[in-house]
Amino acid sequence: MSVDTHKETLGFQTEVKQLLDIVIRSLYRNKEIFLRELISNASDAADKLRFEALANDDLYEGDTELKIRVAFSKKARTVTVSDNGIGMSRSEVVDNIGTIAKSGTQEFLKALSGDQAKDAKLIGQFGVGFYSAFVVADRVTVETRRAGLGPEQGVRWDSEGKGEYSLETIEKAARGTDVILYLRKGEDEFLDGLRLRSIVRKFSDHINLPIVMKVDGKNEDETVNRASALWARPKKEIKKEEYEEFYKHVGHDFEAPLAYTHNRVEGKQEYISLLYIPARTPFDLWDRTQRRGIKLYVRRVFIMDDAEHLMPAYLRFVRGVIDSDDLPLNISREVLQQSKAIDRIRAASVKKVLGLLENISKKDPEKYVTFWKEFGKVLKEGVVEDPANRERIAKLLRFSSTHTNSEAQDVSLENYVNRMKKNQNKIYYVTADSFAAAKNSSHLEIFRDKDIEVLLLSERVDEWLVTHLTEFDEKSLQSVAKGKLDLGELETKADKEQQENTTKEHKEFVDRVKQALGDKVQDVRVTRRLITSPACLVADAQNMGANLERILTSVGQDVPLGKPILEINPGHPIVNHLMSQDDDARFKEWSHMLFDQALLSEGGQLDDPAGFVHRLNELFLQLAGK
Ligand code: ADP
Ligand code: MG
Repeated sequence: MSVDTHKETLGFQTEVKQLLDIVIRSLYRNKEIFLRELISNASDAADKLRFEALANDDLYEGDTELKIRVAFSKKARTVTVSDNGIGMSRSEVVDNIGTIAKSGTQEFLKALSGDQAKDAKLIGQFGVGFYSAFVVADRVTVETRRAGLGPEQGVRWDSEGKGEYSLETIEKAARGTDVILYLRKGEDEFLDGLRLRSIVRKFSDHINLPIVMKVDGKNEDETVNRASALWARPKKEIKKEEYEEFYKHVGHDFEAPLAYTHNRVEGKQEYISLLYIPARTPFDLWDRTQRRGIKLYVRRVFIMDDAEHLMPAYLRFVRGVIDSDDLPLNISREVLQQSKAIDRIRAASVKKVLGLLENISKKDPEKYVTFWKEFGKVLKEGVVEDPANRERIAKLLRFSSTHTNSEAQDVSLENYVNRMKKNQNKIYYVTADSFAAAKNSSHLEIFRDKDIEVLLLSERVDEWLVTHLTEFDEKSLQSVAKGKLDLGELETKADKEQQENTTKEHKEFVDRVKQALGDKVQDVRVTRRLITSPACLVADAQNMGANLERILTSVGQDVPLGKPILEINPGHPIVNHLMSQDDDARFKEWSHMLFDQALLSEGGQLDDPAGFVHRLNELFLQLAGK
């Protein structure tokens, strides 16, 4: 293997340059957190070493006492954070601190507002802790050597944070990483042992490793932090701020969490869980490959970062630790996958999180609104993914509805059921691809007329949601755009009789329309749904429905397209006009127009848009008497 040893100067990726500027600007008021971030990284590096050493003990190189050192030099005006963790190879340095390999970085940068306080939070959620060093330093040097590589394969990374960095290969006897900050002018406050100690205690007390500093004027080490597992301490001794600082470390977040739950489980299986719900959607929530989530410990020893086995995908936003007293210390990922003990811990932890959410929704509805806005879409996946907890999850769902008519999703199924009409026995909903389309759907006309509430569903996941959530509180969920409209007991006998009569009365006309439309429709019938619109399309009760068909087609799936049913409103003047049309060719044209506009209004695409426009123009000309 040839090792690239020369010194080279590389440019930062454009995104890194932009981010650096933003980090420096937005964190300026809070600059002491650079130390928290560097210590957090050092602690992660120690965890990674422990994990890799499970499979290869040699990585310890005879030094198993993992620790973090904070040092400063008044003369050189430097602050240095060192660890004997995993270290980095030359290419890892380039990948980890010269590049931001996160998909969507550009979008993220665009989302920044320029408002420093707001951006500081966003930056935190994006996870760029290392760059916070440049808030206090105008030059940063990283000297690192990956565990397992020879001392001649150390790397020095050096940058003024302006656009480029240099890399060179160095000798480094000890594995791990030293981050050396050359302080900016005016940042001398950090060249002070007391000040540094107090920052460490304030932000990093919970770090599980000793953070050591030299005792002033002596060649003697002193551990500055408590260096014990926070989660293992009794609940009542832990302050809220301590919980929050610990979260910032495990959650790689700059902002305090929305809520947390801390439990010690005793009995057949013993473990501690400390689980957090972030205040904001983590940047990589939609990146299915991200693994950050729950850290697994066994008897206070870090084992691995693993989101998959300890939390189901629909709770992938949960952060925290689970510390088992029973699992073997050398548990591997493979064993973990099949472990019954892990399954039980996971099932119990899911219940804890759901319980926490239930609690918030009851005791602090405003906070729940925040939660729902950030994570509602993900939680909805749970209805599909977790049948065992479906009912509990269903209670946590929130929707828009015709009752509130606002895009804010704040109606629970319980709210809906409590407001149901006296004889109503179904929960009605409409799905569409936007809130506006749902709200303005013609299928809602009769429901508005009769003041029956309808849930307005407009997120993609909703289509899956309703295929799995067919019932709530013994009431079935019913799409307003599917099947024959049956309002059940909500309609009087007289209503129904009148409906039958209308159907009979217009049978001939309906058949004529059906013939005119040929194989475009499965059926044509007189509607009950419409008040102000002339026509609408509905799906057969067994079909998936137009919105779901469109979603599946858009992601490249081959779906059997169900033919729609055209329902027409015989009370509408346009339809009346059509009825009296004797000219067969015209009748056909107009029937197609009726169909096309019904298709358009529910968000569908016309087979022949130009033909539609042509027919429309013809109609204008006729009206104008030309
Ligand atoms: P995050 O910690 O959220 O991943 P950072 O910006 O803090 O983001 O760090 C970027 C990456 O640089 C880390 O993920 C890690 O791979 C690497 N890194 C930073 N500090 C160290 C260190 N002390 N030892 C090993 N790797 C490190
Ligand atoms: Mg970090």
